[in-house]
Amino acid sequence: TNAARVAGRHFLQIPGPTPVPDRILRAMDMPVLDHRGPEFQRLGRRVLENIKGVFKTKNRVFIYPASGTGAWEAALANVLSPGDKVLMFETGHFATLWKNMAIKLGLEPEFIASDWRTGAEPEAIGARLREDKNHEIKAVCVVHNETSTGCVSPIAAVRKAIDDAGHPALFLVDTISSLASIDFHHDEWGVDVTVSGSQKGLMLPPGLSFNAVSDKALAASKNAKTPKLFWSWEEMIPHNDKGFFPYTPGTNLLYGLDAAIDMLNEEGLDNVFARHDRHAEATRRAVRAWGLEILCRVPEHYSSSLTAVMVPEGFNADDFRAKTLEAFDMSLGTGLTKLTGKVFRIGHLGDTNDLTILGALTGVEMGLELSGIPHRKGGVQAAMDFLVGQARNEARIA
Ligand code: PLP
Repeated sequence: TNAARVAGRHFLQIPGPTPVPDRILRAMDMPVLDHRGPEFQRLGRRVLENIKGVFKTKNRVFIYPASGTGAWEAALANVLSPGDKVLMFETGHFATLWKNMAIKLGLEPEFIASDWRTGAEPEAIGARLREDKNHEIKAVCVVHNETSTGCVSPIAAVRKAIDDAGHPALFLVDTISSLASIDFHHDEWGVDVTVSGSQKGLMLPPGLSFNAVSDKALAASKNAKTPKLFWSWEEMIPHNDKGFFPYTPGTNLLYGLDAAIDMLNEEGLDNVFARHDRHAEATRRAVRAWGLEILCRVPEHYSSSLTAVMVPEGFNADDFRAKTLEAFDMSLGTGLTKLTGKVFRIGHLGDTNDLTILGALTGVEMGLELSGIPHRKGGVQAAMDFLVGQARNEARIA
């Protein structure tokens, strides 16, 4: 439409940024405060402490005023030195970007190739580590939820593969599109650096990102030679210990983070994960009813954050996305790099409820019809049948 205004709420169904709840918007709608004063100090102390529960860690979490890419760089730069070998797994577009960053930082990444239709394979990682008798590989880097494909990597199993190989490499995990959507245990799973971002499961705008760390990572940071200042944990620690930052933090985003953590705790993290699982399953049932193919080919690796859907040969997923946006004011995720035109991605993470996901699936079903993509009807019905069954089973209704 060419109208200056579109009525109603835009459906932001991309796999991040996700819609920001009104409560978080209100929490951020505050006068900017003195980031060296006592009021900020209380906020700083609170968020630095409370964010630990979301990562399931007792250790430190560093918070950067940056997008997720910054926290990726921070993770590599704080624990590694130029020339270090790192083992990475090609889950998709984001794993590839992280690998390219490692090259730019002077590291020597080795990339285990894959077809972008599965999560990382612990067996392949373990096999490569066993070959590395001299322990030249200094870190293993895995993307937990590959946002370009909708495949989840089995992080606990990768940890076990590293241990079974008796290899001392650090374990770095990107949870940018899984944190607060898909269960994750920084401490229990022996992750050394967990990278995350604000704009997905945390329901915040883009602009904050995180490094959760282990004692082993902090020890490694003492000897890591990659140049850094903004990303340096060492610069952060003395300030964070007092609730402050070594530079101007994203003060209003931190008010939002404070509210987001409260909201996650009020719902209960386990309920948050179950809700994401439910909406992912409803989405997959719709996709199957439409007769379309899910990109992820390993059911155990299905993502609860997003579903990437393949369009039949001869059709362009971006034409479908453009028509759906124009007709129904809904944004769906595009296919990235080698998936361009071949898939669209339905985001079902963040502040989503049963009716929001059904609204999104309705938009997809109508969009498929509008753009002439061959499909069967009944996807939304299949999702409704599943969700009503879930509501009954869980006795979420009185
Ligand atoms: N890693 C993953 C898994 C992502 O989904 C993204 C962004 O979508 C990034 C890294 C990069 O984060 P950002 O765009 O916030 O810099």
